[in-house]
Amino acid sequence: MNEKEFFLELFPQEYELLDIKNFKGFDGEQFYFAKNIEELDILRSSNEGGVCNCVKENTNKALVEYFHSIINQGIELPIFINSKNQVMDGHHRMQAYNLLGRTEIPIYRNKSHRMHGFCWKKGVEGRRRLRHKTW
Ligand SMILES: [Zn+2]
Repeated sequence: MNEKEFFLELFPQEYELLDIKNFKGFDGEQFYFAKNIEELDILRSSNEGGVCNCVKENTNKALVEYFHSIINQGIELPIFINSKNQVMDGHHRMQAYNLLGRTEIPIYRNKSHRMHGFCWKKGVEGRRRLRHKTW
């Protein structure tokens, strides 16, 4: 499995599009976007978890740049949202799309489960690179 195959399995390319203005945070307010990528140049918190070696640094800036490299290969990384347009999973992918200047963002709505994966490289996270995860 290569990087492209990994992301295509993690993010099936069947999605809807939602205007960027319609996304909400859990407070019900409009989703917050960083003004530029340097704003994301901070070490990731323990809640956010680590990143794999492909990302180079454990910062959200490096993560968003990695997402840009995937999106620029033509692979969409949709955001999981609920019926209220609240972001369930994909806060950093949201930042990546916004910083690319996208105004319509690919989404999956009300999915009962999602694929979870850490890295496309074999052996980086246990035996399974991809697994199903429920909310
Ligand atoms: Zn990796």
